[in-house]
Amino acid sequence: METLLLNENQTQKAGELLKNGELVAIPTETVYGLGANALDAKAVSNIFKAKGRPQDNPLIVHISEFDEIKPLVREIPETAIKLAEKFWPGPLTMIMKKSELIPDEVSAGLDTVAIRMPSHKIARKIIKQAGIPIAAPSANTSGLPSPTTAQHVMNDMNGKISAVVDGGECEVGVESTVITLVTNPPKLLRPGGITFEQLKSVLGEVEIDKAVTKPLEKNAVVASPGMKYKHYSPKTRVIILKGDFEKYKAYLNSKKGENIAALCFEGEEKELDCKSVTYGVKSDDLTQAHLLFYALRKLDELGVETAYARCPSQEGVGLAVYNRLIRAAAFEIIDLK
Ligand code: AMP
Ligand code: MG
Repeated sequence: METLLLNENQTQKAGELLKNGELVAIPTETVYGLGANALDAKAVSNIFKAKGRPQDNPLIVHISEFDEIKPLVREIPETAIKLAEKFWPGPLTMIMKKSELIPDEVSAGLDTVAIRMPSHKIARKIIKQAGIPIAAPSANTSGLPSPTTAQHVMNDMNGKISAVVDGGECEVGVESTVITLVTNPPKLLRPGGITFEQLKSVLGEVEIDKAVTKPLEKNAVVASPGMKYKHYSPKTRVIILKGDFEKYKAYLNSKKGENIAALCFEGEEKELDCKSVTYGVKSDDLTQAHLLFYALRKLDELGVETAYARCPSQEGVGLAVYNRLIRAAAFEIIDLK
C-alpha cells in the first residue's frame, strides 16, 4: 500500500480516511499516534498488525471535547472532572470503567478504557473532522523508540498504513502520563508531561505503580500491560551510568578503543573523547523529554555497539525521562560509586 504524506491543511482528508476504517498517523503534543476508529474493531485490529503490538496491550482513545467521554465510560468519576479541568487538553490519559461501546480490541479484554484529550491543534481538528473517537498508540514499530517527527513514522510505517499527517516535531516528546481512576487512591501507571507532583496537587493522594521505576518481578500482575514489554529500544545497546560527570568521564576513558558512544547532557560532549549524542542540559527535564527519543534513534546512525547514558533526575518530567531510558536500557544500570 502507498502511504500518503499529508500536510497540516489536509485534516479533512485524514478525518475521512479514519472514518472509513483506515489507519492514519497523526501528530500530537506527546508523540505521533497511529490512529484508527476506536469503535471499529477491525480497524483497531489493523493497528496491532501494523505495529507488531502484543494483543494484550490496550490502546488509548483520543477525543476532542470533554463531553465525548460520556458514551465511552460507565460513569465519569469526580476525580476525572477535576483532572480534566486542570490538565485537559494535554498529555494526561485517564483510565475509567468502559462502556459496551468500546470493543475488546481497544481495551485488550480489560473492563477499563484509557482516554485522553490531546492539546495539539491538528490532532483535535482531525478527531473532530472524523467525528469519532480515535484509538491511537504511538506510531512506531513495537519495541522501537516512539516517533517524534513524521519522518520517524515513515521510517517504521511506510507501506503499512494509509497516511501520515506531518505536523512537525512533537513538543513534549514522551508519551502521555497515564493514571488509573478505578483504584482508590488513584495510581500513576506511566509518568509523562503531567507530573506526579501536579497530579497530587489536584487529587491529594496518588500512588506510583512500582513498575514505573523498577523491572517487573516474574509473574507479577501488571496494572498497565504496556509496562511489561521491552520498550523504546534502539538497536544499540544502552547502559545507564549512575554517578557524577567526573566518574562518567573516567569510565568512558577506561573504554578507549572500544566501539562506544556517549548519550550525555548538552555541553558534556566537549569534554569526552568518543562519539556522542546529547539530550538536553542536565537541569532541563523538559528539553530532555523533548529530545530523548530523537537521541535514541540518532544513536543507531552512529553504528556503535554500546552507548553509555547519563542518568536523568527523577523529579518533575525527569521521572518520565528516567522511566523511558531505563526501559531503552533494558534496566542495565551501573552505579559508579
Ligand atoms: P501507547 O499507546 O504506546 O502510548 O501505550 C498505551 C499505554 O497505556 C500502555 O502502556 C498501556 O498498557 C496503557 N493502557 C491503555 N489502556 C489501559 C487500560 N485500560 N488499563 C491500563 N493501562 C492501559
Ligand atoms: Mg508505545
